[in-house]
Amino acid sequence: MAWLGALDAVDRPAGPVEELGEGVLLPGLVNAHCHLELSALAGRIASGRGFTAWVSALVEARASLSPEVADGATAQAIATLERTGTVAVGDVSNTLAHLDRLGASRLDAVVFFEQLGWDPARAGAIAASADARLAALAASGVAPNVELRLAAHAPHSVSAALFRELLERGGPAALHLAESADETRFLRDGNGDWSQFLRARVGEIAFSPPGVSPVAYVDGLGVLKPGLLAAHCVHVDAADRGRLLRSGTTVVVCPRSNRSLGVGIPPVPELLADGVGVALGTDSLASARSLDLADDMVALQLEFPALEPALIVRLATEGGARALGRPHLGTIAAGKRAAFAFARANGPLDDPLRFLLSGAARFESLFA
Ligand SMILES: [Zn+2]
Repeated sequence: MAWLGALDAVDRPAGPVEELGEGVLLPGLVNAHCHLELSALAGRIASGRGFTAWVSALVEARASLSPEVADGATAQAIATLERTGTVAVGDVSNTLAHLDRLGASRLDAVVFFEQLGWDPARAGAIAASADARLAALAASGVAPNVELRLAAHAPHSVSAALFRELLERGGPAALHLAESADETRFLRDGNGDWSQFLRARVGEIAFSPPGVSPVAYVDGLGVLKPGLLAAHCVHVDAADRGRLLRSGTTVVVCPRSNRSLGVGIPPVPELLADGVGVALGTDSLASARSLDLADDMVALQLEFPALEPALIVRLATEGGARALGRPHLGTIAAGKRAAFAFARANGPLDDPLRFLLSGAARFESLFA
């Protein structure tokens, strides 16, 4: 972008002018955590029965999806992001089946190639398979607007051995962390719903619970580090927040997904007060009703009415750009990418920021 300003500004360079009318222009939104490839599961996973029941239903429904149906829904999801003011996405993927679609889009995408495996004996093979896939993609070429990074699913689905394999490769760049009480209980005591789920899926695997919080556990493994994106962080105490802050980890909160699964709500005001980096994500259509980041901005304001609207807007723009390492996005300034979110208004606005968080504002995308 070279210039932006009022129509009658004296230093306005010559050139075509697009008159937007009344509304609010923001830097394009950054959805820092979603799973585009789960879009075909929209409305198919019952929530409200707890975290483990939701995962179980997700795994079952996903197994019955045909690649064609999954691809069609993913294509629609990408189009939705492009239309509703999102210009960059942190997308978690196990299949990497839609890289061409992202490459052909106007989105700036960081795709987190997610690994999971609870059996430590399989850790080497899983990591080697990820290596081979990434090497093949590097050889065939990935579009310049798509960046691939290795990621882990979560501390309750990834063995310590697999975490070590990922760490040796400079990863993981993202994970789900401290999302549910089931996760916390499993890592503390080794039992509960998640323990039963694992036993049913992968059989009896020896595991000595570390007896600490999810954040403390992965910190002990050396997983927390600058640039890491930790999704959710609902079940974190002051000591955990200190670990997140000291390590330079960014927390990506997904308030609608948390609400839908009934796992609680992350302590966003405390995280921000402590100085932890925070960004905003929708999570997938398997747990949120839309991939429109505006809906999570509004949800966050409803959860925390005392949070300043400007702060929430910043999490959805600058916070996300910083989280994904995209310095050319997140603010409006000369030299940055000209990719905006515009919320049209019926007339002049007394309080533009309150309007954005009122639930009445809808964003459209403007790509120059
Ligand atoms: Zn997720």
